[in-house]
Amino acid sequence: MAYDRNNVFARILRGELPCSKVYEDEHTLAFRDINPLAPTHILVIPKGEYVSVDDFSQNASEAEIVSLMRAIGHVARAEGVVDDGYRILANHGVAARQEVPHFHIHIFGGRDLGPMLTRR
Ligand code: AMP
Repeated sequence: MAYDRNNVFARILRGELPCSKVYEDEHTLAFRDINPLAPTHILVIPKGEYVSVDDFSQNASEAEIVSLMRAIGHVARAEGVVDDGYRILANHGVAARQEVPHFHIHIFGGRDLGPMLTRR
């Protein structure tokens, strides 16, 4: 799947749309989800143009991958959710219902998050 340069996170990265930024470094940006599903709901994204985790894991540089993983830990600690626990999640593709085609990792915390998935 080709990268869509008009997706909402691309527009945030270009400064065309605002975001509630919580962290930024050379390769990574983290900001609050606009429709939070938990008291802490933050999105961690690479600044590079990657459609999903599949694209990122194949094509990102080691520096970009390290930056993203380090950012997750940094943000969780800064939010104070480490002791009580938190969850990270990345949706890829149709079955996972990925909505925004720019790779992002969700960080959820601040409450009991329940089971990982509901059974069908
Ligand atoms: P996903 O289903 O994994 O693609 O999740 C996309 C997430 O992006 C959802 O949780 C949305 O609430 C969030 N989102 C969409 N637009 C914005 C925005 N402008 N700023 C912050 N979060 C957004």
